[in-house]
Amino acid sequence: METIYFSPMLLGACLILAIAISATFLWFTTRPIPAPLFWMIGAWSLVIGVLMFAGFVVTRSPVLNVIGNLLQLVGEAVLVLGVFRFIGRPVPYWIIPVSVLIVGGMNIHYWMFQGNSDLLMVVYSLVAGLLPLQAVYLLLLIKDEPAIRSGRILVGFCLALYSVVTFTRAWFAWDAFASGQSYTQPYESFSYLLPYNLGIPAMVTAFIGMTLMTMQRVLATSSSNFVRAENNAQRFARLLHISSAGIAVIRDGRISDSNEQLEALLGIGRDELLEREFALYFKKSARAKLNAAISLANGDLIDIDVKRPDGGILNTELRVLPLTDESGDFIVELRDISHRRTLEDELKRLATVDPLTGVFNRRSFDGLFSRALQLARRQERPMCLAIFDLDHFKETNDKYGHLAGDEALKVFSQYCAKQARGTDVFARIGGEEFALLMPDTDLDGALSILRRVLDGVATLQIKHNGLRFGIGASAGVARYQTGDSMVSLMKRADEALYKSKDEGRNRISVAETE
Ligand code: GH3
Ligand code: MG
Ligand code: MG
Repeated sequence: METIYFSPMLLGACLILAIAISATFLWFTTRPIPAPLFWMIGAWSLVIGVLMFAGFVVTRSPVLNVIGNLLQLVGEAVLVLGVFRFIGRPVPYWIIPVSVLIVGGMNIHYWMFQGNSDLLMVVYSLVAGLLPLQAVYLLLLIKDEPAIRSGRILVGFCLALYSVVTFTRAWFAWDAFASGQSYTQPYESFSYLLPYNLGIPAMVTAFIGMTLMTMQRVLATSSSNFVRAENNAQRFARLLHISSAGIAVIRDGRISDSNEQLEALLGIGRDELLEREFALYFKKSARAKLNAAISLANGDLIDIDVKRPDGGILNTELRVLPLTDESGDFIVELRDISHRRTLEDELKRLATVDPLTGVFNRRSFDGLFSRALQLARRQERPMCLAIFDLDHFKETNDKYGHLAGDEALKVFSQYCAKQARGTDVFARIGGEEFALLMPDTDLDGALSILRRVLDGVATLQIKHNGLRFGIGASAGVARYQTGDSMVSLMKRADEALYKSKDEGRNRISVAETE
């Protein structure tokens, strides 16, 4: 034991143990960077190998000698493989079995056939010296990661130094073999002690370099991640502000980010918007719709009314998408569609009214007539339908011109529409033909209305381009009878109108009851 205590072997073993412990911590701290795992395994393999070799020195057990040598060699090879892994090159795993085969074979031969220990040392040292050289080449010549440059150079030089020491040891051993020196105890042999005095310090410094370059990489990665995150944040902010729509990022129902367009839409400053509950900016009746859109978050467009804090209502179009797959944040896009809504309303209105006179057109009259007829039928209520036709209108056109005729149609329509009651429907159903539907009205009521209308029409003065003229109209009225359809009621009113025309115009005729 004393031999061990006073030899540099113990110090070497302790230094390698220090490397192994540090490598374990390095691996644990820098996971999942893969190389430190190699360095940890390599260092522990070296520790066990050196301990076994020390055991051999005490016990002279050939098994401890062979396994101890091989574990040291494998440990060294794994350290080198870690460098390949770190640099990102294909890992030459073959060096482990090849080294083990060469040195193991030689070592076993030595014990079985009483071979020469110096020759064994030559072979061992040549293999052990060649192993780090492969990594040295990578470390000193490959320059594609400037952030780890100093660590890389330190490891490269130390491994190169280790190789030089190991080759020197091979040279000493060869010299001893060639000169036929007698066997010396390992702890007295120059070639045995060289790696302990010089090789292991080189290895310690190489390991410090490995730690340095690992940390340099961690630092570079995190600072490049930071720069990337900052760039992404800037891009996101730019996108947010470039959009023509109001945009809100929603987290747990609250606005966590917004753009100027949203402030303009809602009429609120950003400071007041942030962290506010998003749903508060919508009409109460619209909140269920909003929540459904957020829980679906499928990007479908929905029309929804925003309630501005000043009390104004804004028609908007809204779309919700998840901001990212995992964050649970949503991005909401809001567009003012008041203008579009006004246009849509106008289009709807245009589709129901006659463009010249502004009263209902034939299509909407038919719809309203059908509904009124159903009601009259179901509730057995009276209803009358009158049809008007302007008298000698062709002549009016011929005499005063088509535009004057148009003016007459407008004045006539507006007058009749004004005379009609709220429940009545007055519509233009043809060129100069009009209908007045009078629900809940019996024939007497209808006749009094029609008389009033025709009397009024007779007093109308049409003014156009300095011209003044009057118009007349004839009417036919039919009363709803059980079993009537739109067609039959219309037909009877039409027949009554013809009767008025036949009897001299400017009068009202009542359809015969069937
Ligand atoms: P009657 O008393 O028998 O009804 O004679 P009328 O001339 O009114 O009869 P008719 O049906 O023959 O003529 C209708 C005229 O209405 C023919 C057409 O030129 C005119 N008319 C139809 N639509 C318009 C319109 O939009 N503007 C103008 N200015 N005239 C129209
Ligand atoms: Mg006509
Ligand atoms: Mg006519």
